[in-house]
Amino acid sequence: MKTKKFTLSESQMPTQWYNIVADMPNKPLPPLDPATHKPVTFEQMQTIFADELIRQEMSTERFIDIPEEVQKIYGIWRPTPLVRAYGLEKALGTTAKIFFKNESVSPAGSHKPNTAVPQAYYNYKQGIKHLTTETGAGQWGTAISFAAQQFGIDVKVFMVRVSYDQKPYRRLMMNTFGAECLSSPTTLTASGRAALAIDPNCSGSLGLAISEAVETAVQHPEDTRYCLGSVLNHVLLHQTVIGEEAITQMEMADAEPDIVIGCFGGGSNFAGIGFPFLRKNLTEGKRIRVVAVEPASCPKLTRGVFQYDFGDVAGFTPLLPMYTLGHDFQPSDIHAGGLRYHGAGSIVSQLLKDGLIEAQSVAQNETLAAGILFAKSEGIIPAPESTHAIAVAIREALRAKEAGQSPTILFNLSGHGIIDLYAYEQYLAGSLKDYAPDDDEIARTTSMLQNLL
Ligand SMILES: *Cc1c(COP(=O)(O)O)cnc(C)c1O
Repeated sequence: MKTKKFTLSESQMPTQWYNIVADMPNKPLPPLDPATHKPVTFEQMQTIFADELIRQEMSTERFIDIPEEVQKIYGIWRPTPLVRAYGLEKALGTTAKIFFKNESVSPAGSHKPNTAVPQAYYNYKQGIKHLTTETGAGQWGTAISFAAQQFGIDVKVFMVRVSYDQKPYRRLMMNTFGAECLSSPTTLTASGRAALAIDPNCSGSLGLAISEAVETAVQHPEDTRYCLGSVLNHVLLHQTVIGEEAITQMEMADAEPDIVIGCFGGGSNFAGIGFPFLRKNLTEGKRIRVVAVEPASCPKLTRGVFQYDFGDVAGFTPLLPMYTLGHDFQPSDIHAGGLRYHGAGSIVSQLLKDGLIEAQSVAQNETLAAGILFAKSEGIIPAPESTHAIAVAIREALRAKEAGQSPTILFNLSGHGIIDLYAYEQYLAGSLKDYAPDDDEIARTTSMLQNLL
């Protein structure tokens, strides 16, 4: 019988995360203080993030130990399976070998707990009692609620009001894990009250929720910190546990990927699967294609500019060097909520600028079609975000078939979609729309960035 799943024992779980900064030919540019245009200091970040996370954010060390306490909690769902997608291969009639890493088996149903657990741990070690964060679609809020609970820390999640109303099950997962989930804008913060004064029915935004969460944290520097689920260097670092496992599992399968694919919101699951394989390119002269896949409706990697920009809509964060559509860019309301972010993390942006990774964009009808083919052939209903990676795996497999080639393709299944079935409902009813911004719209929101520096 042909092996379907390549599983590691707990004792084979990686004990270190990989920091790609050590091997990058051009290091990422530093975040800047918007007022002085000087690099942000450790002290400036200290009221917002736990000290150890700031150290990791700035680290150039190649490998960083995963604390034993974190490994123990990873053990609830890790190591995750690497699966050969025989069913999908057959459905496509391709000669390509397709593998996927299944990150949907975690407590939150996505890769996000890989960073939520160490973030909660380092805060706990520092004596922090309360965490604040924001969540859009609800995946990150769920992950940090679970993780903080493991260390007896309580969490306030500011959830964008539209999602709060539309996604009661995500909110209930957070409540089940013991977190408080608030509909943002709230009356608890100055940012929230200001938004409500202008429009009492304000439906909220991720930018506003970030402002509320940061404001709440900095008011209580003695025992409260903020945390973030993507974009930042330390978040990408924690996710490399995915690719480190996958390297060992691909060896078990006696295969090596020619193409590694991840969907792209802020860059964390893409980095997680991609960076350990990129290490082989950077240090062993391999030529693995590492491909990021974004929605056509939010195309910062394929159509954005490389510029310093704010991480949030309100202009609260430091200026970050990134591929961006501009922080005023309003992504259309697509179902892959986790991919609706205007910018890309600084490490990934630098790698793209240097031609070391590739990017493709896909419209949502193609992604949902891919998700349904995958569900039928492999038995897992993927998250709308993850269907972007599947769509490009399919594109590459079909292209290989035409060219008479048989590449090995590996993609990351970042999560399952069983709490996001509304996207499938719309697709099956034929009422899902494709959106892409026109050039003028992108030019308008990116040209405003010239004034920031
Ligand atoms: C949050 C999320 C993403 C996008 O975030 P990245 O940081 O780019 O990985 C992708 N897939 C799922 C399932 C998510 O929850």
